[in-house]
Parts: sequence; structure tokens; C-alpha cells
Amino acid sequence: MTKDDVRNAIFKAFAEVPKPAPEAVLACHCAHCLPLRDEFLPYSWDKVPAESVDRQRSHLSLFTPSAFHYYLPTYLLRSIEDPGGDVCIFTAYRLNDLDSEGARDEYSRLSADQRRCIALTFRYVQSVAPDEEIAAILAKWEKLAQTNRDV
Ligand SMILES: [Zn+2]
Repeated sequence: MTKDDVRNAIFKAFAEVPKPAPEAVLACHCAHCLPLRDEFLPYSWDKVPAESVDRQRSHLSLFTPSAFHYYLPTYLLRSIEDPGGDVCIFTAYRLNDLDSEGARDEYSRLSADQRRCIALTFRYVQSVAPDEEIAAILAKWEKLAQTNRDV
């Protein structure tokens, strides 16, 4: 699978996710969290500048579940553009937490194709920049992507 194949799969799978309203992007509106909203909200998920994603690399967890759903592909696209980069590893860590209550709320929103995109992203990353921790996280998502094929 090439980078373009993964990109195309992400565009197809996330095309219909609605953009959250400005007040529904963040769970917290403190001075630490607000820059995330202000950097991302002017853009659709496929147009957020790479510098903004890099700056907000560890903040995927600050989004509400609906904003997480909308901007997750932003982090996936940046991960395949920069495998082994900080966005990739922080996104993998964030997606490693499959069992918390918050995670269940977020992941239940993901369609089978969207889950498959997470597996495809890390599979591609592993093919160009192998990493043991990401390999373990990839294994979990490969399993999840398979068990939800019928959604
Ligand atoms: Zn905050």
C-alpha cells in the first residue's frame, strides 16, 4: 500500500464527518486549550497547515468526541507525511488507549472504514519507519478493524 492509497482511503472514509460548531470543539476553554481551536477551526480537516498540526501534536485528547472524530484524519494525514515524526508518535499513543470510557465514546463514532484508516496509517508508517511501540498499537487496530468490518 502506497502513501497515496492511504491518503485516498482517509479522504473517502472521513468525507462525510460534519464539522463541529465553534463552541463544541473543546471540552475546556482555558488559555492552554484555546490555541488548538483557534489554529484548527478556520480550516476543514484536510487543510490544517502542517505547522499547526505539529504545534498541536500532543493535543488530540483536548478535543470533544465530535471534534476528535472530525480532526482525527488531520493527524492521520500528518502521520503518513512525517512517519516517525512527533505527530505520528503522539497520535499513536493517543489511539493506544482503547479501554477508557472517553475512548469508548470516541471510537464508537468511528465507522469500520474509519477504523481501518487508523490501521492503514500505522501499517504504512511501520513500512517506512518501524517502531516497536507503534507496532503494538497497530496490532490492536488491525484486530479492531477486522472485528468491525460489518458496520
Ligand atoms: Zn484547558
